[in-house]
Amino acid sequence: MVFRTLVCNIYNNKGSSARMISVKEAQKIVLNAKLRHTAEKLPILEAIGMIMAEDIISSDDIPIYDNSAMDGYAVRTIDVKGADKSYPIRLIIAGESIPAGKISEARVEPGYCIPIMTGAPMPAGADSVVIKEDTQRDSASVMVFREIKKGENVRYRGEDIKKGNEVFKAGDIVNPASIYALASLGIDKIKVYRAPVIGILATGDELIGINEKLMTGKVRDSNSYLLSAQVKDMNIRFKRYGVVCDDEKLLLKSIKKAVDECEILILSGRISVGEYDLVKEVLDDLGAELIFWRVNQSPGRPLAFFKYDSRFIFGLPGNPASAMICFEIYIRPLIRRFMGYKDLFRPEVDAEAIHDFKNKTGRVNFVRVIVERKQGDYFFKTAGSEEPGILSSMISANGIAYLPPNTGDVKKGSRIKVYLLSEIR
Ligand code: AMP
Ligand code: MG
Repeated sequence: MVFRTLVCNIYNNKGSSARMISVKEAQKIVLNAKLRHTAEKLPILEAIGMIMAEDIISSDDIPIYDNSAMDGYAVRTIDVKGADKSYPIRLIIAGESIPAGKISEARVEPGYCIPIMTGAPMPAGADSVVIKEDTQRDSASVMVFREIKKGENVRYRGEDIKKGNEVFKAGDIVNPASIYALASLGIDKIKVYRAPVIGILATGDELIGINEKLMTGKVRDSNSYLLSAQVKDMNIRFKRYGVVCDDEKLLLKSIKKAVDECEILILSGRISVGEYDLVKEVLDDLGAELIFWRVNQSPGRPLAFFKYDSRFIFGLPGNPASAMICFEIYIRPLIRRFMGYKDLFRPEVDAEAIHDFKNKTGRVNFVRVIVERKQGDYFFKTAGSEEPGILSSMISANGIAYLPPNTGDVKKGSRIKVYLLSEIR
């Protein structure tokens, strides 16, 4: 419904005169896209980084028995009351050392103790553990040099996770610590929101495979790798369809196959106003709806977004920096929404410009920057060329600065929103 209205407003006559929209509108449209969230049960290790689609109630106490938190001696607290370096208390060893995994038959009676290892079940009679470092042993007894509190160095049954407690709620993210909890609870599979299947297809007559020899007029298809890498970086599946040349029939056939196999199809190239920019026409022939074409931004102005049945198709400009930034700003957040994340965007910081930046008027400029942290504050400087066709500046960039439209150049010392793409070095 949302789409229909928007489509009527912005799309007419095969999209050729679709009006350019703002970054905000484009993001809103993409992120309001109607998705069919579905869940799947995955082995826990495959669910890392995904969002849980079920609540988990603990079926066990973890740990299931009281046990020692340290290597030392299981004692009765009362027996070592007042123990000190200058006033050691001698206890008699009542039984064999208890390793983790063994249950002691012996009982700790007044004046006795039993050597115990980390994780071993507490023996009957004892209520705390003196650590080995606070003792000195001879063959049959032990000198204790420190008094302890009742329960010291004991891990009680259910202390970590209580049986019947809600350990996870649907919507929680699966991280390594969750895997620990799930494994402890004997859960080997978990229901998580499924990641969409993503397809990537590049088009352009100039494109050759990455193993082919460069020659005048030819460019290795690096975009399909770049975009696949961006998807892979999210730890999700993708299908790389490689390259299709500027042939309408072939393109239609390839896109049709790809879109049937994917839920989000990313096309690279031929979406602008050039004579061979066939993607819009081909998608129109396919029956896909153009939702928007051209966004008031740099790089990535020719970005197009289509809907086909329940699938989404992005037409990205072939210039690699444009493609990469469009993925960051529109596709990655959509994929995250699909996967049930509440936080859709990269973390952003308010950072201070180390030098002046030109802000091309009339559009949002996404500028590749290097963010540094000094004394708890963030600073940014250029990562190099801002040309859409130059990707090398993206290699050193760890952030994208958002320069709002018509706000004039960014002066040294002014503060700007910067999306962090990776950790700050
Ligand atoms: P296009 O958007 O198809 O007009 O392409 C714009 C620029 O990006 C041209 O210089 C293309 O050669 C380049 N380009 C397009 N597709 C790719 C690709 N898959 N890999 C690398 N460069 C590309
Ligand atoms: Mg072109």
